[in-house]
Formats: sequence, structure tokens, C-alpha cells
Amino acid sequence: MAYQALYRVWRSQRFDDLVGQEAITKTLKNAIQQQKTSHAYLFTGPRGTGKTSAAKIFAKAINCPNSIDGEPCNECEMCRSITEGRQEDVIEIDAASNNGVEEIRFIRDRANYAPTAAKYKVYIIDEVHMLSTGAFNALLKTLEEPKEHVIFVLATTEPHKIPATIISRTQRFDFKRIDVQAIIGRMAYILEQSNQPYEEQALSVIARAAEGGMRDALSILDQAISFSNETITLEDALAVTGSLTTEMMDGFIGACLQQDVSGALEVLENILAEGKEARRLTEDLLLYCRDLLIYQQAPKLLENRAAYLTDTFKQLAEATVSERLYNMIKILSETQNEIRFTNHANVYLEVATVKLATPQTAPAVSASQPVNSTPAAVSQPADQAELTALKTQLQQLQNEMQQLKANPTVEKEERKAAPKKTASSYRVPTERVYQVLSEATKDHLLNVKNVWEDLLMALPVTQRAMLKASEPMAAGPGLLLIAFDYEIVCQRADSSDELRLNMQNTLSMMIKDYTPDFVFITRESWPRLRQAFVSQHHDRPVATETNETDDEISLIPEETNEVVEQAKSLFGDLVTIKDD
Ligand SMILES: [Zn+2]
Repeated sequence: MAYQALYRVWRSQRFDDLVGQEAITKTLKNAIQQQKTSHAYLFTGPRGTGKTSAAKIFAKAINCPNSIDGEPCNECEMCRSITEGRQEDVIEIDAASNNGVEEIRFIRDRANYAPTAAKYKVYIIDEVHMLSTGAFNALLKTLEEPKEHVIFVLATTEPHKIPATIISRTQRFDFKRIDVQAIIGRMAYILEQSNQPYEEQALSVIARAAEGGMRDALSILDQAISFSNETITLEDALAVTGSLTTEMMDGFIGACLQQDVSGALEVLENILAEGKEARRLTEDLLLYCRDLLIYQQAPKLLENRAAYLTDTFKQLAEATVSERLYNMIKILSETQNEIRFTNHANVYLEVATVKLATPQTAPAVSASQPVNSTPAAVSQPADQAELTALKTQLQQLQNEMQQLKANPTVEKEERKAAPKKTASSYRVPTERVYQVLSEATKDHLLNVKNVWEDLLMALPVTQRAMLKASEPMAAGPGLLLIAFDYEIVCQRADSSDELRLNMQNTLSMMIKDYTPDFVFITRESWPRLRQAFVSQHHDRPVATETNETDDEISLIPEETNEVVEQAKSLFGDLVTIKDD
């Protein structure tokens, strides 16, 4: 039998199996028992917290003839058909891949018919925030005229993207991140059932890395199993999660506490160079500092995590006053907030590092500590010259950060998008691109985008594959501009008359009388082409010859709002004036 992922095998089949969401499951069970279910539910919460599992259990429980206490029996034909996804009255839709209006209209039409086998038709729409505006409107109409035998369960990780009109017509349940202990408990149970030996610390590392998502935890656990020899060890877990090894943490926090800024920055650089993700790193550092505090107060609490308790860790805990640790935790959690929505996490981390290593007020070492019991460097106050140097360094970093804030358009992506020096074999049809741009309208593009997924699905597999890594960029009445991620695919598409024909035929069916001709370009040429077009069609110089690549894009929002407006009317929201 083919290997099945743990999270599939161990997917919760009853409300009581759903870890960490007791308040929600209890409410749902009661509603089912008392036959007071609503016709629309909204399940929100981070990924992997049980939203779709709960939706499926719900669909089973309300349709199961043997339901007891609001739980499905999971034995009868109805339950089994739903579990296996072959019950035609329980329809699962992934809005991430079907964001079309047609899809929802279809649901709306079908919802008028009574269920064939089940008591209730249940529509589970996952990632519902991905629906297009048109689809939301169609869905709203459906929710406004509730049918006795139809229940909608909408699930989303991003409730703020859902129109209030929809939310107000649903009963909303917010799924919480699952706490670390509950995740550890579930993993331990699964491993014991599977006779798989493990070290407890490994589970703790995995549970933390999963950030409250059971599905993520089980995926990581899966990897750890395939990585391990017999027993899943702490080292396996660390390797799989990309968590910092204890040594690196010791090195970084140690350097900070020793006020060794350049040392700390160096460790940071090494850590980031190893591909550690800045958010995860900040989290790990926070936990490390918290553990130092806990160790100071109640070392016993950390006994089960012996692997973290290196000699360095113990020394640092003993030698550092708790005020200093509180201060570090404060800096780290501020950083955590700052980097949540930025593309420049590393800069923030560098600034944080300088702050961590230069305490403003509290001395690094508690006065009651005899100096000779501490690592030598910890007790050395930074001398004046060093302090001045650090302040300059901090100032520089802060300036850099201000610039990034003031000018968020200078994006790595756009740097990447600058034309590469490599010999290019695909000749971008510049004049044709300008032609598209001069006739392009936002409506045409939106129409195309709305049917894009459906268009792909309607094409033969090989042609679909070609278009998978492509995106419509601009559209007018007679022309459609498509950008490809890979030059080689772009070239193949360009030379395929069959593809053009198929796309044209399909599009004309999906959008009334729309039979555009296609212009294919590579994605990396797009910013340059767009820029060149916009500047050609306005008298104001946007990009000069001297700054032709990286800077040209950033000049749009900075200098010429009028051009931005013009671009916006052409491309709608697709104009990247990024602000994150
Ligand atoms: Zn049943």
C-alpha cells in the first residue's frame, strides 16, 4: 500500500478527536443534537487548526442516521461516503482554485434541488476569501435565500477579506491556534499507536515549529520519521524544522549578553546564511530568553528539555539579571511585530541585534553576583569608544530602515525582474506589447482573470501545463498580454498555433464574443516594458538613461502620481505600489 501522510491517516473523524477546539466542537454538537443548526457557518482561524475537518465531521453528523450526542457514527454508508469524498450531497470546493462566478452560480442552481441521498446538502467552501467579487455577490444571493435542506460551511484563514454582508449571514466560529501541549499529546498518541519510538524533546521542537497547526505538526513529524533512524531524536527534529541548533542560540544570545555587537551580528549572519527564516529565528530567540528567565526562577520546569540546558545556557542564566532578559524579550517581541509584514526582515533583525547587545540602562550582571563566577566578558562594560561606534552603527541601520519604510517599492522582486545579462533567445515583441497597453482596460483584464482558472482547466493537459506558470497582465478588446515565468515556456507557447487557437476558442465561450490575439512575454521583461510604455506616453520623464533598471520602478510612485493614476486605470490593482 502506498504511504499515506500522517495527517490524512489521523485526520479527526469525530468532534471529540479534534484537539484544542473544545468550545467550538461542544457548541456544534449541541446544535446538532437539538436540531438547531444554522444554514451558514463561517469557520475562521490559522491553517491546520481543524476548520475543514470540523466541516466534514459536521456534514457527517447532521446526515448520519446513527448520530449519537451530535457525533457521527463513521460506520454507516452515509458517513463512509462523506469521509471518502464520494457523497454527492456533500460538496467540497477549494475557492483557491475555483474563484469564478460560474462556479457559485452553479452551486446556486443546484442548491434549489433537494439532496438525493442525504438529509442536508452541505457545501464546504475552503479558502472562501479567494472568491472573486462577482462570486461573492452570487454567494450572497444564495445566503439571502436560505433553503431548508442546504447548509454552507465557509472556511478561511483570512476573515478580514470577506465582505461584511457575507459574515453577517453566517454563524462564525474562530478556531484558535492549538497549544503546544495539546499538539505534543496528539503526536505522542499517534506515535505510540504506530509503535514508533521517539525522544520527548523532539516532539516539543516539532510542536513549537508547527505554530499551533496540527496539520503542520503532523507533516513535520512525517519528515522527521523519514529522516530518523529508529528513534525520532531531538537532532532529527531540529534538522527538519530548521530550528536553531542549541549551539547557535548559545552563541547569539551569549554574544548579545557580552555586549559583543559585531560578534552577535556575525552569528546572525551565519544563521541567516544557513537559510533560517527570520520570523522563525525571532520566535526561537524569544523562547530562548524566556527559558533563561524560567531557569532562573524554577529550573525544575525545564528538566524535560535537558538538551537545551547546555553549560553555556546555565552560565548565561546565572550571570544575567532578569531585568536584562525582560528587556531583551521586549526588543524581540517588538521585532516580531515589525517583521510580520515586511520584506526586509533581516534589516529589522540586525537592528534588533544591535539593541540586544547594547543595553540602555540595566547593567548586564547582577550586583550580587561575584564577578569570578561569570563568563569573563559578560561583566565587562562596553568602553566609551566602542559605545560610540555602536551608536553610529545603530544609527546607520535605523536610517536604512527609514529609507525602506519611506520607499517600500524598491523590492527584491523588482531587482530580479531587471533584465538579465544572459543571452536571451526569446525576442520580446515590444511594439505588440505597446499595442496591447494602448488599448488595455481594467475591465477586460478582470474578465480574463475571472475565467483564467477555468480556461486552464478547459485546455488539453500539455497546454495547461504551459500556461500554469503564466499570468494575464493586460487586456484590451482585441489583444491579451500574457507573461510567463520561464522564457523557454514563453517561446514554446509563442510558436504554438494550436495553443492560440484553443485559447481563443475557449475564451470566446467564456467571455461573450471575446476572441483576442495573444502577445506573449517573459515575466522578467514586464516591469521594464510597462515602465517604458508609461513613460513614452507622457511627457514627464520617468526613467532616465542612467537609472534604467533597479531604480526606474521606484520612480513611479515617488515622482509622478499622474503616471500612477494612468497606470492604475490601465492595470487596476495590479500596479505594484507595494506597501507592506
Ligand atoms: Zn453514520
